Amino acid sequence: MLEQLDKDYVLQTYARNYVNFKKGINATLFDENNKDYIDFTSGIGVVSVGHGNKEVADAIYKQVSNITHISNLYAIEPQAKLGEKIAKLSGMDVATFFANSGAEANEGAIKLARKYGETKFENKRYKVITLEHSFHGRTITTVKATGQSSMHSPNFSPYPDGFSYDNKIEDIYKSIDEETVAVMIELVQGEGGVQPFDKEEIQKLAKYLKQKDILLIIDEVQTGAYRTGEFLATNLYEIEPDIITMAKGLGGGVPIGAVVTTHKDLFTYGDHGSTFGGNYLSTAASLKVLEILDNYKDSGKLDETIIYFQNRLNKVYEANKEIFTGSVGLGLMRGLRVKDADTLTEIIKASLNEGLLILKAGKNTLRMLPVLTISKEEIDEGFKRLENALSKIK
Ligand SMILES: *Cc1c(COP(=O)(O)O)cnc(C)c1O
Repeated sequence: MLEQLDKDYVLQTYARNYVNFKKGINATLFDENNKDYIDFTSGIGVVSVGHGNKEVADAIYKQVSNITHISNLYAIEPQAKLGEKIAKLSGMDVATFFANSGAEANEGAIKLARKYGETKFENKRYKVITLEHSFHGRTITTVKATGQSSMHSPNFSPYPDGFSYDNKIEDIYKSIDEETVAVMIELVQGEGGVQPFDKEEIQKLAKYLKQKDILLIIDEVQTGAYRTGEFLATNLYEIEPDIITMAKGLGGGVPIGAVVTTHKDLFTYGDHGSTFGGNYLSTAASLKVLEILDNYKDSGKLDETIIYFQNRLNKVYEANKEIFTGSVGLGLMRGLRVKDADTLTEIIKASLNEGLLILKAGKNTLRMLPVLTISKEEIDEGFKRLENALSKIK
């Protein structure tokens, strides 16, 4: 019934699984037949503090039973407090523009960079260099910023000018020209295959760009909000980018995006805006999410969970070397390289049958983005189900 309704009334842009989820508790979901599933996806890195989180639900209820939305024509207290919290947790002297999604945050970052390029130099600088296998969003501009030719379909052309792609970090240096305004990268490529970059290489690039007065934009839509074990992957890599974008895990499931920048006075009145961005609902939810995760990190529980997950993952990897060719990732953003794409598809299908939600990245990576607050019991159960799935496809 749900399948028919979906097919009749929703545009079919996703190859969907027709499971009808009715309830969630932390990293466990229940369908309409009360079958349980361990969730190793957290809604693609979104539900950072778990499904059905009572504290977040209470904070949302408390907020929306008073005010849900006023508009950005008036100051919004939870928005201002969230901006302060992001600055504090990042350890940087930054201010934030609030949007509603990752793509929108990246659009904002690109606009900010273009204004920098237009106003700070004698010649116009507008080109943005990104990387192959990157992912930056689905709007016309962010799809063009994404370094995957399969995403640049002629169906949606023409695309905006000014984007080019390099294969490796070290290739960026020679691609820079006098019109380059920014380099935009993920520190761990998510959709591209859960591939972390080398810290020293990133630090060297950051230093070089600073010398050349070229902006460094770090897309932390997936890595941000403690996914890699620190508030930002930027903190883990010990760099100070000009612009950081966030979204996915920041609102715990409530749509929110953020353009975080050290260039606090570059945008002026009228330069950018959003009707919904940073409203009472999303920022009150996000404030609670960050409060929970900040405490979770401070108490040592986040690091404990990361180590536990990693150890359990490693066991599966070691025991199935005929299927897996590598183990990649950072924090709770993990992947196992699978020998071929067909096997990967089979693993994901068999996992769903066993009651485990798990993701794919790139062509051949089995991806795990568990709820950050996943329990040891849920981790054990999830890997048990993955092992069962693997035994069925062998
Ligand atoms: C998911 C993602 C985006 C796009 O975010 P949306 O909220 O889907 O627009 C952009 N960049 C990265 C790195 C992502 O993982």
